[in-house]
Amino acid sequence: MPDSHDRSLPSPEICRFGGVDVDAVVVGAGFAGMFMLHRLRGLGLKARVYETGDGVGGTWYWNRYPGARCDVESMQYSYQFSDDLQQDWSWSEKFAAQPEILTYAEHVADRFDLNRDIQLESRVNAAHWDDRTGVWTCSIEHAGEIRSVTSKFLILCVGCLSAANRPSFPGFERFQGPNYHTGYWPKDPVDFSGLKVGIIGTGSSGIQTIPHVAAQADHLTVFQRTPNYVVPDWNGPLDPTYEAEIKADYQGLRRKAVTRPSGIWVPFNTDSALDATEEERQRRFEEFWGYGGLGFMGCFGDLLTNAESNRLAADFVRGKIREIVTDPEVAEKLTPDNIIGCKRLCVHSSYYETFNRDDISLVDLRTEGSIEHFTETGLVVGGIEHPLDAVIFATGFDAMTGSFEKIAISGVEGQTLKQKWEAGPRTYLGVQSAGFPNMFMVTGPGSPSVLSNVLVSIEQNIEWITGCLGTLLAGGKSRVEPEVDAEDAWVEEVNRAAGGSLRSTCSSWYNGANIPGKPLIFIPYIGGIPDYTKACEAAVENGYAGFRMR
Ligand code: NAP
Repeated sequence: MPDSHDRSLPSPEICRFGGVDVDAVVVGAGFAGMFMLHRLRGLGLKARVYETGDGVGGTWYWNRYPGARCDVESMQYSYQFSDDLQQDWSWSEKFAAQPEILTYAEHVADRFDLNRDIQLESRVNAAHWDDRTGVWTCSIEHAGEIRSVTSKFLILCVGCLSAANRPSFPGFERFQGPNYHTGYWPKDPVDFSGLKVGIIGTGSSGIQTIPHVAAQADHLTVFQRTPNYVVPDWNGPLDPTYEAEIKADYQGLRRKAVTRPSGIWVPFNTDSALDATEEERQRRFEEFWGYGGLGFMGCFGDLLTNAESNRLAADFVRGKIREIVTDPEVAEKLTPDNIIGCKRLCVHSSYYETFNRDDISLVDLRTEGSIEHFTETGLVVGGIEHPLDAVIFATGFDAMTGSFEKIAISGVEGQTLKQKWEAGPRTYLGVQSAGFPNMFMVTGPGSPSVLSNVLVSIEQNIEWITGCLGTLLAGGKSRVEPEVDAEDAWVEEVNRAAGGSLRSTCSSWYNGANIPGKPLIFIPYIGGIPDYTKACEAAVENGYAGFRMR
């Protein structure tokens, strides 16, 4: 099938708008920034991408910890804008590991000739809007120097999980051994052989790291504050027949996927767990456990809306933990007592088995005391020192808002984004925020982002932004921003949707509870991809209702 987008577009030499260095500054060269650049070129705009890392790939550039792997099937966690690309690329496994996903990102950058408009090792520290001239000025740090770059548009492709959370534990500066954060893992492989290693955190990153480090280290001590539910992925080589079936009608799969709230096509039932007999229920739970992955939550339609249905699914997984982990005391510590799927479900096929090794210990911070302080050679919990040669922080991220707020962004009348979002983020459709004209966010707060296959959300957001900019340019206009009323109504809708889900009932990074002092607001839009897309399309059909173009 001919693909009108699958070609390299020349970057315009001159700006469409006068008096600026580039038409658009894009921040971040992850999957969002790369595709945004491709589409901006398609609009004939001169764009430049600034990226802190020394390569493309974003999340998959930074998260190089051992065992890092995507838990959305790679046939779906991939771009769909180019049919040639999706037909040509072959994944080696059902769920690809970080190195392969990074290679894919690099392939895309080469294939679409993106690198010449991406400036690496360049951190955007600040961005200031001049309301008189209608120009953004970014302050960009590169090779120890700060440079100003002016643009008409500022497009933030900074990712949802890219501002690391590194809690400050007393005495940390005294600790003599090396320390690592899963979200900023070094490029050179780390060898833990012969070492006593500690890991703090048992979210998705910790859960993927633990089996690998346990296999290598002399001893691994896991410091767990909250146990998580982990379902198997049964990962393996990608079945060529399965791949061929998908490629025979790739667009068909993509179209089906966006009918699902998550944008992922996996088996999904709509009936209630309460309507099934005990026998039927267990059969269904086993079937979905066998299918593997995040799709486990699709066993029944009401696992995230009905507490009793949720408890039944949670009990099933709790039973699995007790079956797999041989020491009943360890099994008990690993067993969560909260809503399954409230914190993000974790995926791994040998996590629980790892705790049957004799060179791993589990410190339960709920019952054995919280982390008191580091010493030169260890970590003290409940008065007991755990000797450590190295420590890994798997403590997550200041999610969804942290990556925006770490840039000093100021809009109309000098108001900063941080000030505006002090009581929680405010956006219209997650793509713009009132008072910050010509600034766009890809997978911003108030969009489905982290609750979806983020590649689907990235492409949807970027196609929408491209359409918006195209309409603006076609109308001879140069400024677009949301109206405050439209933004207020959307914030209300985001809150309303969150209220209907059990997901808003626990402390998690979805609602900011993992960062001390962060407002407790459910940040992404939980209404699902179909409703979100409908809202975005409705705005367009009604002449960009809620947006002011001039
Ligand atoms: P996370 O889910 O936020 O987990 C952080 C862990 O650190 C939690 O266990 C947390 O405990 C603990 N922690 C934080 N502060 C602590 C403190 N002061 N003392 C003790 N423990 C502390 O972060 P993550 O594991 O990096 O994952 C974040 C998200 O990234 C995932 O949910 C997922 O969306 C994405 N991700 C995806 C994949 C994948 O595709 N497979 C892999 C990795 C990450 P509490 O739970 O008690 O707060």
